[in-house]
Amino acid sequence: MTWSERGYQLPRRHHQDATYSRKVFIGGLPPDFDSAKLVQSFQGCGSVRAIKKPGKGHAYIILESNDHVKSLLSRCQRSVSGDFYFSIVGRATQVIPWAEQDSEWGTEFTSPRTNTIFVGALHGQTTAEHVKIIMEDRFGQVRFVKIDTDSYNYPNGSARVQFVFHESYCAAINVNILRVVTKDYERNIQLEPFFEKNIPCSRRCGSMSSVICRHYLCLQYFCRACHRIHQNQQSENRDLHKPIGLL
Ligand SMILES: [Zn+2]
Ligand SMILES: [Zn+2]
Repeated sequence: MTWSERGYQLPRRHHQDATYSRKVFIGGLPPDFDSAKLVQSFQGCGSVRAIKKPGKGHAYIILESNDHVKSLLSRCQRSVSGDFYFSIVGRATQVIPWAEQDSEWGTEFTSPRTNTIFVGALHGQTTAEHVKIIMEDRFGQVRFVKIDTDSYNYPNGSARVQFVFHESYCAAINVNILRVVTKDYERNIQLEPFFEKNIPCSRRCGSMSSVICRHYLCLQYFCRACHRIHQNQQSENRDLHKPIGLL
């Protein structure tokens, strides 16, 4: 299944009062540009650490604080669409900050946390609102989205999405791989059941669950032993009843 931006643009959020992650994406670098040169280029922005893999045209820089990110952005040129550009060796490199406000959308229902999927292989600039728009368009009403982040509160490529209806949750898991085509990128994102801890095994065996059966008509919580029995009871499509969770 594919979701495409089809002519309209996913909203770009320019928060009036954003709190930015200290980690900032820098794109459009010469591939031979190394970390030392990067640090030098941003030396007017306080203490800077650079993370760059050799041969890549992009990098991350770690600044001291949200205020340092704002100060960097104030030195950038803005394009008509609001993108930030910083001149490095006469080249306009793109500076993409992450506003922490973009990590979450909506209000999660947690008692219990139902109808929730895990989304993997997300593109780094996908905001929670983007995920909400994409999921809602394909599967139905969304209640909550949380983009998972690292110790810098910067996206790490996964999220969880809570749907309002069980049907949406099942449909998303049945699809499993959703191709997302936007103006800026194409990605196959992965949709799996979100494994919630501390749920008793659905066979009432007394154990806590360690897996969830991935078949979109099951999606039940099991301990390892009961899942094995459950899987053995399937006469066909046993592979579709694979366990997801604490393996
Ligand atoms: Zn059990
Ligand atoms: Zn099953």
